[in-house]
Amino acid sequence: MNLQLVALEKQFAPSVLTQIHTPLLHVKKIELWIKRDDLLHPVISGNKWRKLKYPLNQALSLNKTTLISMGGAYSNHLHALAFVGKQLNLKTKAFVRGERPAVLNPTLHDLLAWGMTLEFVSRSVYRELRTLHSADELPATKSEDYWIPEGGATPLALQGVAHIVDEITQEYDVLCTACGTGTTLAGLVQNLPTTRTVLGFSALKGGDFLTQDVKKLLHQTASTPENWCIQLDYHFGGFGKTTPQLIEFIDNFASQHGVMLEPVYTGKMLFGLFDLIAQDYFSAGQKIIALHTGGLQGNRPL
Ligand SMILES: *Cc1c(COP(=O)(O)O)cnc(C)c1O
Repeated sequence: MNLQLVALEKQFAPSVLTQIHTPLLHVKKIELWIKRDDLLHPVISGNKWRKLKYPLNQALSLNKTTLISMGGAYSNHLHALAFVGKQLNLKTKAFVRGERPAVLNPTLHDLLAWGMTLEFVSRSVYRELRTLHSADELPATKSEDYWIPEGGATPLALQGVAHIVDEITQEYDVLCTACGTGTTLAGLVQNLPTTRTVLGFSALKGGDFLTQDVKKLLHQTASTPENWCIQLDYHFGGFGKTTPQLIEFIDNFASQHGVMLEPVYTGKMLFGLFDLIAQDYFSAGQKIIALHTGGLQGNRPL
């Protein structure tokens, strides 16, 4: 591991487990713990650091000087990348979906403050960029450029996510995560004994493609585990969409358990998880660990 990355990782707090107690959990005899990757670092969102670690290591070992990626205007991935790039003295550049807003939101504001070059692109250009495999395919690339796909979804990302599983020393049956690209899920399942399962919750509507994407990622790393599945029905209308019911759930969760969630990923996952518990999806006595993937930076109002 590159020494700069080792030094950076020293700034990180350990990711602890917080047990959640509710009457429903008590009645159903389900044990629920939250793995607090949200507490890893004040800026870098939990799973984004996990996913970036090995791609960054590769970029540094290849002496790349510019990290290029893409994301939406509230992207946790770009937020982590811009911060980390600044820490590592690497230039960062991002293609951002949609027009440049007249008033920058807090995420975009941070990206610029940390020196990231932003290029706002149309939805159709954005879609084309999704098929990019390396920086060489971009116009005007230099050999010092290093491409990181949307959401950090690359096979190398899985290695960093796998550490999450290594860190958990207590007994459990099910590990839950929210899914955007499915990379985090793939990294977890790749490193999980087959006696345990990973349960994903899609943050997007029409998330069937996620299953294919996860299989593809796993295939690229030569593993074909089957102890995982993705719930597709807790998207609340689509990516980034919310309902009053979801917001109320998140507010109650914060006041009852002191754990902040956000409405894009972790709120939907925990809402879905409690719904499944109420429907007896799990059997009595099962122990569940839900991964808090962070993302709270996106909660800041304009
Ligand atoms: C990006 C993100 C996810 C989704 O991770 P994938 O690896 O893309 O599935 C989940 N939760 C939060 C908070 C995120 O920022």
